[in-house]
Amino acid sequence: MMPDDVSKILSRMRQYFNSGLTRPVSFRIEQLKNLKKTIRSHEDEIIQALRMDMKKPPFESYASEIGFLYLEIEYAIRHVRSWARPKRVSTPVIHFLSSSMVHQEPYGVALIIGPWNYPLQLVIAPLIGAMAAGNCALIKPSELAPATSSVIKRIAEAQFNPDYIKVIEGGIDVTQDLLTEKFDYIFYTGGTAVGRIIMEAAAKHLTPVTLELGGKSPCIVDQETNLHYTVKRIAWGKFFNAGQTCIAPDYCLVHAAIKEAFLKEMIRTLLSFYGEDPSRSPDYARIINEKHFQRLERLLNDGEKVFGGRRDRTTLYMAPTLIDRVTLEDNIMKEEIFGPLLPVMSYDHLDDAITIVNSLPRPLALYYFSDNKAHQQKALSEMTSGGGCINDTVSHIGSQTMPFGGVGNSGMGAYHGRYSFDTFSHPRGILKRSNLFDMALRYPPYKNNVKILKWLFRIIG
Ligand code: NAD
Repeated sequence: MMPDDVSKILSRMRQYFNSGLTRPVSFRIEQLKNLKKTIRSHEDEIIQALRMDMKKPPFESYASEIGFLYLEIEYAIRHVRSWARPKRVSTPVIHFLSSSMVHQEPYGVALIIGPWNYPLQLVIAPLIGAMAAGNCALIKPSELAPATSSVIKRIAEAQFNPDYIKVIEGGIDVTQDLLTEKFDYIFYTGGTAVGRIIMEAAAKHLTPVTLELGGKSPCIVDQETNLHYTVKRIAWGKFFNAGQTCIAPDYCLVHAAIKEAFLKEMIRTLLSFYGEDPSRSPDYARIINEKHFQRLERLLNDGEKVFGGRRDRTTLYMAPTLIDRVTLEDNIMKEEIFGPLLPVMSYDHLDDAITIVNSLPRPLALYYFSDNKAHQQKALSEMTSGGGCINDTVSHIGSQTMPFGGVGNSGMGAYHGRYSFDTFSHPRGILKRSNLFDMALRYPPYKNNVKILKWLFRIIG
């Protein structure tokens, strides 16, 4: 694809947006229904493509990519009329005989750039917000999940006018070409380093951005907890998609009094999930490519493996692996793991765990396991994160009523449900003044008006 082609595509999309076709809420609802219909008719292809790209188990594909999107689409269809309705807000006394309204305006043409780990969900979930808000959207799926990228293109082409929703496939060079153009909004999901590149490119055109990035999401386990449930929930969140989840627990900090019991329970749980040889389990995914496989292999040099560690470069299989005796100086604690390696460290006092978490960049998710309400409160108030769970992992992402997004190095902005609509809308405040009366006081020559003004502000301010 040549840069000229990108300009032509964008100019056609802008014309389509300017025609006003995407603005009526009835159009948006109809298109969201079409989106659901076309995903439904491609379900088998999607599951097959995800299997080809990373051997994603069908259960995980359905739960985290397909079913997830149906819930988001249905929620948007049900609520978009009320979200899009102009809202009357109160008007300050100084503007008496006026009314104030907030109108939600679509930005125009949005660019959505996605990563490879949930390659369908992470471009279609933002697309739902973009469509609900009345935008056109150009999607650039990740080149590292080529089979899914190709299904995404087919889904869009089967259902939508290409001037309304367009998919452009390709590698980093294509993303770079797209970034030279002026879009009205950029929604990026991926690593923090590329997030900086995206923001720099957006700054040249003053394009607003949402950045959904990554980081090391901690999992802290208090001694006052149900160890059986805790370990199961951590193992599920960590080894789902072979650990290649932006909000997977990255590392565990376990109270010293229960660390040995925690490790034993984790080994028992992993055996019950994936059997003696997880490479034969139909429920365990593969590493996306050799580059990531080698990166993870390098991290295996840190600490002491107490379970797992087996791997096979030819099939990109890496076993669920537990690592003990890790220090903050080890590489595994210096970068996001993004794979099936779980370092487990211990702490004596909650304050020590909090100090460790706060010494690292702000995480995308924080997981705290405890039945002690005072400890829960302390953990929430003394550490920050994009989102998270008490007594669970990952599940907060599946809620249409909560914002999902990062903070600091893990991103900016949020989406899902109403938050997706807001992300892709410009809130436009319009004051409507009556012609029944005109306040002479505000016009020059001001003379002694300042005295009256001061008196007025003393009364109303
Ligand atoms: P990736 O390599 O697929 O890159 C994502 C997109 O960025 C691709 O479309 C790619 O073409 C583009 N890109 C890559 N390098 C570029 C460059 N130099 N210039 C311009 N564009 C470029 O995905 P990734 O970054 O490996 O994804 C994994 C990361 O994403 C992890 O850090 C993970 O935590 C994060 N992530 C975050 C979320 C979230 O919701 N916050 C979700 C999934 C993944």
